[in-house]
Amino acid sequence: MILPEIRVRAGREKKLRNHYPWVQREEVRGLITDIEPGALVRVAQSDGTFIGIGTYSNTSRFPIRMLTLVDEPIDEEFFVRRIAASVARRDSVKGTNSMRIVFGEADRLPGLMVDQYDRWCTVQVRSMGMEALKPLWLPALQRVVQPEGIIERSDMEGRREEGLDSFVGVLAGTVPEHIAIEEHGLTYSVPSTTGLKTGFYLDQRDNRQLLRQRVRPGDRVLDLFCYSGGFSLNAAFGGADVVGIDISEEAIELAKANATRNILNCRFEVGNAFENLESGPETGYDWIILDPPAISKTKSTRDSLKWAVWKLMFHALPKLNPGGRIVVFSCSYQFGLEGMMETIRLASNDRGIPLTVEGVTLQPADHPFFLQFPESLYLKAVWLRRD
Ligand code: SAH
Repeated sequence: MILPEIRVRAGREKKLRNHYPWVQREEVRGLITDIEPGALVRVAQSDGTFIGIGTYSNTSRFPIRMLTLVDEPIDEEFFVRRIAASVARRDSVKGTNSMRIVFGEADRLPGLMVDQYDRWCTVQVRSMGMEALKPLWLPALQRVVQPEGIIERSDMEGRREEGLDSFVGVLAGTVPEHIAIEEHGLTYSVPSTTGLKTGFYLDQRDNRQLLRQRVRPGDRVLDLFCYSGGFSLNAAFGGADVVGIDISEEAIELAKANATRNILNCRFEVGNAFENLESGPETGYDWIILDPPAISKTKSTRDSLKWAVWKLMFHALPKLNPGGRIVVFSCSYQFGLEGMMETIRLASNDRGIPLTVEGVTLQPADHPFFLQFPESLYLKAVWLRRD
């Protein structure tokens, strides 16, 4: 098949040859007028030398997303190979029946997310290219994973910029409304069509386990932004006395159901985390977990998250027992580790409560950090001790 060609400006081929997957609008040479949105394109240097094959979008900030640096057919077999490689990349993930099996660009499948929840899959399509290629990757996914059903949860922001509408629906087989997933001896109910993310925060798996190992029986734990209760349940499993707070009633219902399902005793309350810290009467915690959501994916996220983290830290620190621990998360690439450390230090200084960093953790292996694509490192956690 002869593909339409797009050439990039001189010098811009270098990052692509180094496996960086995105081409920005201003890096494209000349005007593109006659290429179908979502189409496969041959990407070439300014002199016409082949670089690779990508997909084209007319609306995205990134008109080209690279698929391969090899001159090969993009067919169902291509996706079978890529998805099988993604699954193989996760051979170190143990103790669970559920994980992210395709993490977009980091798995060389730009714009495609696939989570496996027990015997079912949830997919999320974030680019016009992947939308157009659905007839190829969907059967490939079925062949490699053989799930009982596949549901699409493309209801996140960011689709609009790509010129795509929000979509939720079953793509293959049947999918139950709630899926029970298992992880390190606990089970969680995951709503397949509602709820945040694709239903469950798989990316906190290692941190949940670490918290469980680190709490001591009787520790008092405050889990803010608790969603379906992942951290709370693990702390309770470790013997701690836990209260989880979330602003969403639906989240608190899920968390309560998950505690009951595992015969664990936790207190869950609907509430605003900021108000809870600023005016809540309770104090004397041994652990405070701060996992605020990223508001948007732009630079302003960095500033809003920075401000949120400062505020949360400033109000949380006096509620922590001496020797107590606080864990702070950023799930935004924009708010990186350096920014987090600086913000935490400011809040600690402003309160006059010094802290020791006991550890830093990153996202787990099923959310791979592809070194050539820095944007794929998004989840950071700083584990601190009040001195
Ligand atoms: N820690 C969770 C994930 C947190 S996601 C886990 O590991 O599963 C962020 C959560 O913050 C969402 O559940 C959202 O409902 C909640 N949230 C957003 N704003 C909030 C606020 N001001 N106070 C409390 N919860 C809030």
